[in-house]
Amino acid sequence: MKEIYKNIYLKELPLPNNPLKYLNFYIIKGQEESLIIDTGFNREEIKEEIRKVFAELKLEPEKTILFLTHLHSDHTGLATYLEKMGLKVYASKMDGDLLNSSVEKSDPMWQNTIQHGIWQGLEEDQLDIEDHPGFKFRPTAHINYIPAIPGEVIQIGEYNFEIIDLKGHTPGIVGLYEKEHKILFCGDHILGDITPNITFWGFQYGDILGTYLKSLDLVYNMNIEHLFSSHRSLVDDHRKRIEELYAHHEKRLNEARQALRKSGKSTVRTVTKQLQWDIKSKNWDEFPKSQKWFAAGEAHAHLEHLRALGEVTMEEEKGVLYYWLKE
Ligand SMILES: [Zn+2]
Repeated sequence: MKEIYKNIYLKELPLPNNPLKYLNFYIIKGQEESLIIDTGFNREEIKEEIRKVFAELKLEPEKTILFLTHLHSDHTGLATYLEKMGLKVYASKMDGDLLNSSVEKSDPMWQNTIQHGIWQGLEEDQLDIEDHPGFKFRPTAHINYIPAIPGEVIQIGEYNFEIIDLKGHTPGIVGLYEKEHKILFCGDHILGDITPNITFWGFQYGDILGTYLKSLDLVYNMNIEHLFSSHRSLVDDHRKRIEELYAHHEKRLNEARQALRKSGKSTVRTVTKQLQWDIKSKNWDEFPKSQKWFAAGEAHAHLEHLRALGEVTMEEEKGVLYYWLKE
């Protein structure tokens, strides 16, 4: 654990078998109340690591706030455990409710994921929700959270953290901004070495890639000297990194346009197969099953963005969605 700024500590919590490698776990120590950001996976060794941090910094559970940036299990896995320890838990209304609707297999989160797979044309890949990493590491109980409302301020010691809406990576991801010290805790909104996953969440969330790009614009225009992200290396120049992320999505949109030009009326699956992926698989058949959900979700978000831009038309036929370029 190291002190990365006055009274702000960083401890890396390992995420085994995960390309994200570890979670940057932040602790802000105040005289009265203290704050921790996100939790890591629900694993015994992580509980142990967090207990050590509490002992080392002399944190009292009843005087500590757990702030959840978003619903993903590498950020929320121990929320129930920490709530039982006595911490107050903050989550956005959107992600908190989604998290609480993902406990049972029959809950909307998983039934929607299955439905999206059918829409995307993944039925022939015979995916099983039991193989979905989000399902495997899903929360085991509901959390009683306090809604983190954008604009509200959480005061810890000399810091005043404003809750900022960063939606895009998830429908309700939130960050904490300290204006005077020019610090932003941004969760997975902006990461240093990897591109945050932007996926299709359902039509009720609209053009989620467009929403994400707007949240990037918001942070681009903010005065930030210290961007504290949740994984891998910290970002020195937030504007330079955001420009790289814009370029990444522009490239992806071009790949999707090209796939539609080549294949005509296509399912999300057909487009997904033609995008460039970092995974070392020769072709779609060798693609790890668990990753097919994520790849198709990402391709789908890009197709929906093209549709929002007015470039693409979509139609449902026998339960499967088809996309094609307008003339
Ligand atoms: Zn995430």
